[in-house]
Amino acid sequence: MTGEEARAQPLRSYLVHYGEIALKGGNRDRFEWILMRNIEHALRGTGVQKVSRIYGRIRIDQDLRAEPEEVARRLARVFGIAHFEPVESYPWDLEDLEKRLGEVAREGGFSSFGVRAHRIEKAYPLRSNEIERRLGALIEKESGARVDLNHPERWFHIKVASREIFFHSEQIPGPGGLPTGSTGRVGLLLSGGIDSPVAALRMMRRGCHLVFIHFHSAPFTDRSSVEKAIDLAQLVSRHRISARLYVVPLGQMQRAIVEGAPAPWRILLYRRAMLRIAERLARRNRCLALATGDNLGQVSSQTLDNLTALDKTVDLPILRPLIGYDKQEIIAEAKEAGTFSLSIEPFADCCSFLTPPNPVIAARSWELEAIEEKLDLEEHYRQAMRGVEIHRVGDIGQEVHCPV
Ligand code: ATP
Ligand code: MG
Repeated sequence: MTGEEARAQPLRSYLVHYGEIALKGGNRDRFEWILMRNIEHALRGTGVQKVSRIYGRIRIDQDLRAEPEEVARRLARVFGIAHFEPVESYPWDLEDLEKRLGEVAREGGFSSFGVRAHRIEKAYPLRSNEIERRLGALIEKESGARVDLNHPERWFHIKVASREIFFHSEQIPGPGGLPTGSTGRVGLLLSGGIDSPVAALRMMRRGCHLVFIHFHSAPFTDRSSVEKAIDLAQLVSRHRISARLYVVPLGQMQRAIVEGAPAPWRILLYRRAMLRIAERLARRNRCLALATGDNLGQVSSQTLDNLTALDKTVDLPILRPLIGYDKQEIIAEAKEAGTFSLSIEPFADCCSFLTPPNPVIAARSWELEAIEEKLDLEEHYRQAMRGVEIHRVGDIGQEVHCPV
């Protein structure tokens, strides 16, 4: 489409409201800018003409060919949006708006209604209650419905802006939270299971941009976990961020651990190796923390003793957004987010590589260090780093192989 044709398209507009970011004082400009960028990203390919700021809200103008359901579906994924409204815009003189409201009223479909007017532009010659009375009388006459300002079947919301008047009836809830990318970068350890994708979404909802890191045991297992990690990372990122997924071969390291360490300690030693490599990758990506899907007491590696011992492995803080959740709560959230059905498909899980039936449940970090001293793992760290693959997930799904 040429620029001329684009300008000739009639527009459909949305007003986006954001809750928490308005509270961020001096940071407000930055938060709004990031939210606008995320909205543009999410709506790419749907005919966005313009995303702009207007009176503490974000306005989206789209050409009319954009599918409203698709736009609503995508906006509902953008963290930081409290709610949004498909609005129609009319000139100040009320004539066109009254014509339109008359049409809507005659179409009917409601037996009670309310009009709420709000003047963002105070210089408008009519006061809010005068607008409400004038438009209310018109709608009452044309529809035969009665006015109910407490629980009407249909609301008519009118907003007077500086050169135009907005009208909307519908308000669609957004996902809330903070705009992804507004609070910092985090290295997220993504397995193929149920928990870590939910942890990823929780961190993104609190404004973190994620760098995904996945470990697999190939060549000792197949690469099914890698396919799954790519799909899961893609699923949680799509229309939200364009992100990196690092895929790290841990098999040789795990073999060295299996050969040199007592069996009950294996899982914790695997986890320490993962955390160290994740820390290196996270630092290269300017991340301020790591995050996992750990959940207190769910499996033996997640006892309070073991989690505390694992914390000492790295200097970066390890965030665990699901720590206090019950499994059932996490499953409900995974179902809601659409990750559950993919998470439960079978895969070769790196943590179950030759794991014993009786793992240690109360490790001390000095015990883990003492075992590691006897294993010469340094070359395995180098080898794992040399084997790292980088995939791009989100909206550009192409794979890049490169030395890190
Ligand atoms: P999940 O459902 O996320 O796999 P889980 O209950 O199976 O969690 P563990 O397997 O002990 O628990 O893993 C706990 C956390 O450790 C995961 O949520 C994830 O953050 C990280 N983790 C485990 N295995 C891997 C892996 N192969 N690659 C990357 N991270 C992993
Ligand atoms: Mg797991």
